[in-house]
Parts: sequence; structure tokens; C-alpha cells
Amino acid sequence: MRTATGTTRIQHGQLIDGTGRPPIADGTVIITDGRIAYAGPSAGAPPTPSEANTIDAQGGSILPGLIEAHFHATYFNVAALEDLDVKYPVEYVTLLAAANAKLALECGYTAARSGGSLFNVDVWLKKAIECDLIPGPRLAASGREICGVGGLMDWNPDYRKIGMDGLVLLINGADEARAAVRKLVKDGVEWVKTYPTGDAASPDVNNHHTLCMTFEEMHAVVATAHNHGLKVTGHCRATEGIKNALRAGYDAIEHGTFMDDEALDLLLTRDVPCVPALYFELASVERGPEFGLPQAVIDGHQETLECGAESARKILKAGGRIGLGGDYGFGWNPHGQYARELTFFVNYVGFTPLQVIMCATKTGAEILGRGHELGTLEPGKLGDVLVASGDVLADISRLEDRNNILAVLQGGEIKAGTMN
Ligand SMILES: [Zn+2]
Repeated sequence: MRTATGTTRIQHGQLIDGTGRPPIADGTVIITDGRIAYAGPSAGAPPTPSEANTIDAQGGSILPGLIEAHFHATYFNVAALEDLDVKYPVEYVTLLAAANAKLALECGYTAARSGGSLFNVDVWLKKAIECDLIPGPRLAASGREICGVGGLMDWNPDYRKIGMDGLVLLINGADEARAAVRKLVKDGVEWVKTYPTGDAASPDVNNHHTLCMTFEEMHAVVATAHNHGLKVTGHCRATEGIKNALRAGYDAIEHGTFMDDEALDLLLTRDVPCVPALYFELASVERGPEFGLPQAVIDGHQETLECGAESARKILKAGGRIGLGGDYGFGWNPHGQYARELTFFVNYVGFTPLQVIMCATKTGAEILGRGHELGTLEPGKLGDVLVASGDVLADISRLEDRNNILAVLQGGEIKAGTMN
């Protein structure tokens, strides 16, 4: 992705640098040739050349570009299972993904880690974004997901002869797990997304206490992925599934819903980040009836919601790392509403606004594997900055409204926002 040339000065705003440190009431950020040269009190800011671009934050907030840590680029108003696999051909899915990527950037998300993609779309989406062909967040791609045969993602009965080829690689045993990862290596992914457990969405045979992969399969995934320099994460709700993942050497945990003390210890020992992706659960409970979700599914989401929130509180309190994002792209939780995750973590889970911004910036960058160049406003990092009107610490929900997004910068270049 190209970076800006010259100097940009962002001023007249409260500076929230993403590290979790208290805000600076009157802050200035100076970006030179795409990288941050200064971020701190306006009083101490060095002079900039007269030809420098100036962005007036209008007394609002200056923060790092947000990072979606569980982004499904290819989901688009999913309301039924077939929307997730066979409804559209890869050509149309690719166009939908490009539209979602543009939307995410317009919402202030300058980077995203894939939570799984149909076909290998996110790998090529990433390439198109990096080549400046289309606008979107800087991506870490996952391609297709891995799940055990008969597990959560294997819902088509055999008589339909649908192999789920576009969505997941279905495996039986460690050898097939290795083969699946090797396929993904050739596809060019960075993260391998797996399904160690089921979900409330499937209450009959793969509910959220069901295991969908064996420890041996998970261990084979990790050994093969790590050998090739890839990272591994997984959809982990059931307690035993979380522990299997952590013992197998997973690099991140998605959801981490039913986390007991032993699982928490395993998580903290290796400082593995967890992405709860919880607002989806509240949306499923609140809007499920409207979309015809069965009561058993809604009840399951309620249990997930409560236990997931409790686990997230425990992780944060114990000093663990939480990434924010998740599962936007369903009919009741559409793309474009990503910042609801932040509001939800303040209002429902009880994080402070400063904590959720750190989770949605610094920790997100670390999950991407790019903590050294993204996620905080510090000298030397890329100029990925979000300028929002008003005080987002006083009212975090301001970030949900695109009218409040004044400027979204990547590498010092304004890409979106009302000032664009
Ligand atoms: Zn997901």
C-alpha cells in the first residue's frame, strides 16, 4: 500500500494513542512520509513546513485506526445456512467482499484480521488492497476454514453431494488435518482458522459444548502451520475445546466462551489473545425472532452471551489480551456496524472506553502480527489514524455513526471520512 509523501499535521483534538494511557486533552499528530513523526501534547509539537497538510480535528478525538480482529469479508446479510456456502458463485462473492472492505475502511477500520473466508477470496482481496486497486483495511488473510467431518461447519447431508469446498476443508484425523493446512499454505494464508467446537447456532448435534475436532487433529494443524510460519486460531466455545487449543499451541482463541480457571491459566501462561466477538450474540438474541431463529438457538446465544461476557471480564482483569471484532455480515448483524462491538464492551461487559479502544487498536495490531508498525500513535509507526468528531471517551457509541468519522488515514493518506 502506498504511503503519503510530505507532512500532515492533525491538531485541535483529544489524543488517544491506543496504548491505554490517559488521553491528552490538546494533542497533535505529525505524519511525515506516511509514518508518525510526533504524537503528543500540542504544546510540545515541533513546527511543520508551511506546505504541510493540516487536518483540524475540530475539538474531537484523534486515535489509531480501528482494527477488526475477526473479519468475515465474504459474509453478506447471511440469514440462512445456504447463504454461507452455496448461494452465490465465487465471482459474486468476490465483489461482495470488495464492497465490505470499502465499507470497513469508511467506518474507520484501517486493518482487519480475517476470521475465515469463502474460497480464497480474502487472500486476493488483501493483494488488491495492498496494490491500491481497491480501498480497504490492511488484511491478514485466512482463506478457507478447517473443521472435522460432522462438525459445526459440515451441515449439508451427504445425499446433497455438497462438499463445502468453498467454505471449509473437512477433515478426519491428523493426516487429513496436515493435508488441509498444506493446501492453505499453497493458497497463501497467514492465519489458519479451525473449528474445535460447535456453537449455539446448531443446538441439536453441534451445540456450543460439542467438540468438532480432536486434540490430535488440532495438534497436527498447529505443527504443520507453525512449520510453514503460519498462525492458528479456532472457534472455541466449549471449555475442553479451549483447553485443547491452548495445549495444542494455538496462537489465538476466537470466542473463548466457557473459560474455567484452568483454561484461563493456560491462556495467560502463553499470553494468547482472545477475540470474544460477543455483540453478535446480543444481536442474535434481540433480533433472532425477527429472522425466524428457533427458540433453542436464541436460548443458546443468551447462554453464550452471559458466559462469554464473564470470560472476557476475567481475561482483562487477569491482564490478558482481548481483540475486538466479530462475525459482522449476518442479516441481524450486518457489515458496517463493527463499532457496535466497542459500545457493547463498554455498556454490557463493563470495560472502560479507554480499554476498548486499546483492545480495538493495539491488541488488534498484535493479533495481525503487526504490533511493531500499527495499532498505536507512536513515532515510527504507520500513519493509520482515525479522526472523529466529539469526545469518544465520553460516548464511545459516536464511533458507530459514520457522520462522526471526519477522516480515516492509512499511511498518512486520507482514504475516507466526511473531510475526504
Ligand atoms: Zn466468525
